[in-house]
Amino acid sequence: DSFDAMELKSDLLRGIYAYGFEKPSAIQQRGIIPFCKGLDVIQQAQSGTGKTATFCSGVLQQLDYTLVQCQALVLAPTRELAQQIEKVMRALGDFLGVKVHACVGGTSVREDQRILQSGVHVVVGTPGRVFDMLRRQSLRSDAIRMFVLDEADEMLSRGFKDQIYDIFQLLPGKVQVGVFSATMPPEALEITKRFMNKPVRILV
Ligand code: AMP
Repeated sequence: DSFDAMELKSDLLRGIYAYGFEKPSAIQQRGIIPFCKGLDVIQQAQSGTGKTATFCSGVLQQLDYTLVQCQALVLAPTRELAQQIEKVMRALGDFLGVKVHACVGGTSVREDQRILQSGVHVVVGTPGRVFDMLRRQSLRSDAIRMFVLDEADEMLSRGFKDQIYDIFQLLPGKVQVGVFSATMPPEALEITKRFMNKPVRILV
């Protein structure tokens, strides 16, 4: 029950400890290792349980830092949450040199395009702006191999279902999918059935 025992990259461990985490939470103990192995993971957990660091660690562990292309896409229901995830990803990945950008509504499209053009490893965003960036090919999807839906139930209740499906259609066929949700309404289950491959289920 320590971060040390998870066989994480040493620069990721440094980031985790520098951020102030000493021991993994329950969801981190159960979720980080399967995610790092590339498995599809459904984690049913409330916010406040440490889910953000779970998928951020899984993503940061698996990125190829020699390739400055978007390899992981994280969707969240609100701008504030997307920007919060961006901060955590950047902090935990500080020693790895991760490049993260948040694509959210209400900000300059041209600024998003400029930053994406300059090269990022991870994009975190809300479904509307992310779909817009993909559609314009300002965000290239060919190197994306990890896709995380955070607060999936909340995204569905905000009416993002069609956009989530549209985004799935634009991603390469073989992406690792992580779904994090406090509850599992039928629409969330439908997503896991349609887009996930033998998912590991973790209930915290
Ligand atoms: P989350 O569920 O990701 O929103 O995290 C809830 C809160 O718990 C945040 O303030 C995190 O910084 C904090 N947290 C997450 N994991 C740990 C940990 N392993 N040790 C201490 N605090 C943590």
